[in-house]
Amino acid sequence: MRRLLIAGNWKMNKTVPEAIELVRELKERLKGVEDRDILVCPPFTALYPVGRELEGSSILMGAQNMFYEEKGAFTGEISPVMLKDVGCSYVILGHSERRHIFGESDELINRKVISAVNHNLIPILCIGETLEEREKGETRQVVERQVREGLKGLKPEDEFVIAYEPVWAIGTGRSATPEMAQEVHTFIRDVLTELFEKEKAEGVRILYGGSVKPENAKGLLEMPDIDGALVGGASLKAESFSAIVKTTL
Ligand code: PEP
Repeated sequence: MRRLLIAGNWKMNKTVPEAIELVRELKERLKGVEDRDILVCPPFTALYPVGRELEGSSILMGAQNMFYEEKGAFTGEISPVMLKDVGCSYVILGHSERRHIFGESDELINRKVISAVNHNLIPILCIGETLEEREKGETRQVVERQVREGLKGLKPEDEFVIAYEPVWAIGTGRSATPEMAQEVHTFIRDVLTELFEKEKAEGVRILYGGSVKPENAKGLLEMPDIDGALVGGASLKAESFSAIVKTTL
């Protein structure tokens, strides 16, 4: 049985006081929700204060990116050791904005994924096709490549999460239908079965991301292979994020 994971990707939003205000409200609204994992991913500058605010709470914290080295002359980068130090247990890697705005390749993302698991951080590997790729019928091909390349070198005992986020659905208000998402999620699980054994593939959580809102979350989360959501815009307000978290309660 896979445990639901609802993750909020705050992207480049929230100053420290704003982040603390949001997380305090989330703690209040989500008190007593124990049957699912709740994760917030603030920007780097807010990780330390948010981590302190979350001490003693069941809400988990993750980062939105990291570099694969532990330390050294890598100006502007943040290491897995630093993320662990401030209380992160997860890290989002290969988000479409990293791939498309910052040019991250499958190879770079794979190095980060390996480094994350080696440092006891659970990577959330983001994958997904562009609108052009979908219209050309290349969705499966793209997603399979991103899964295979992104997870290269991982062992069955390594814990990771996949987030299927069609690029055309991110921040556009245009979500995939539950059926469209379910179809790709099943395909991803088939690829995972080829890469690892079936038992491992059955245990991997595959999240859906792309314009998830309180209004469409239930239909998506009720699908058998959708094991949670990666939420962008709607995670910036306690009211909408907590409504998504509680949607199938
Ligand atoms: C995301 O950033 O991962 C995302 C899915 O954004 P949004 O929910 O705003 O589409």
